[in-house]
Amino acid sequence: MQVTVVEVGPRDGLQNEPSVLPPGVRAELCNRLASTGIPKIEVASFVSPSRVPQMAGAEDVVSALDVRYSTVYAGLVLNEKGYDRLHAVGLKEVHFAFAATETFNRRNQNSSVEESLAVAERIIARAHADGIRATITIGASFGCPFEGRVDPGRVLAFAERLVAAGADEIVFADTIGVAVPKQVRHLVREGVRLGRPIGVHLHNTRNTGLANAYVAMEEGASVFDASVGGIGGCPFAPRAAGNIATEDLVYMLDGEGIETGIDLDGLIAVARWLEEVLGHPLPGQVYRAGRFMAVSR
Ligand code: ZN
Repeated sequence: MQVTVVEVGPRDGLQNEPSVLPPGVRAELCNRLASTGIPKIEVASFVSPSRVPQMAGAEDVVSALDVRYSTVYAGLVLNEKGYDRLHAVGLKEVHFAFAATETFNRRNQNSSVEESLAVAERIIARAHADGIRATITIGASFGCPFEGRVDPGRVLAFAERLVAAGADEIVFADTIGVAVPKQVRHLVREGVRLGRPIGVHLHNTRNTGLANAYVAMEEGASVFDASVGGIGGCPFAPRAAGNIATEDLVYMLDGEGIETGIDLDGLIAVARWLEEVLGHPLPGQVYRAGRFMAVSR
């Protein structure tokens, strides 16, 4: 069995860090990650720098990449303007995200869910016309900070519509890190019936991230977002928490005999380098403990 681990640290991780890294350092992070065999990296978010200063200079990050043909470089967009920028720099995969609940989507995207679905459909169509792969992430798929628990039927209806629109992949995101394995098991099990690759994007806010990843794997999810060192959960912002740490996920998948193609030791080295760059300990655990020889490949 094989899964695709998608490194989102350079985007989701860094956009939630208090320090702003210049594009050259963000590109270096991507290059170091690519050298470990990570198959796909979300390298930047094409949003306005006034909204997310950490993501300023997305084009400069892309132009400083040492492009490897074995790595897919993807970017996040929240609207068609972002898509125009992504297309202009030649990325071959677009990730579009919106939230499953009206309140969260209105606050984040300033549009209704229906409007966001329409944008998703237009971006999928444009991407395919341009030869670009389109992944759609449904944020707050399990819980919303404003509306509480989210009805899985609602999320699955969105997924079904996006599959009909041609989305190459659907990712269920636990944006605020509230999901428990029972919820993830149900949504992934139903999601894979749609016949497209299903991914999960898990934040470890309440320490259920890896347990959620495990049940997603059991139910047939084939795409796992993660961030090196678990960044995004800065200790100076106690209520924020990062994605599951890529090296923690890879350690578990390795031990379970799931192929990722990623060099765990190399990944641990990247996390240690990033700890120096950011100047604080990262939430990930395996990069501190190291690998255990009994489960090494
Ligand atoms: Zn996230």
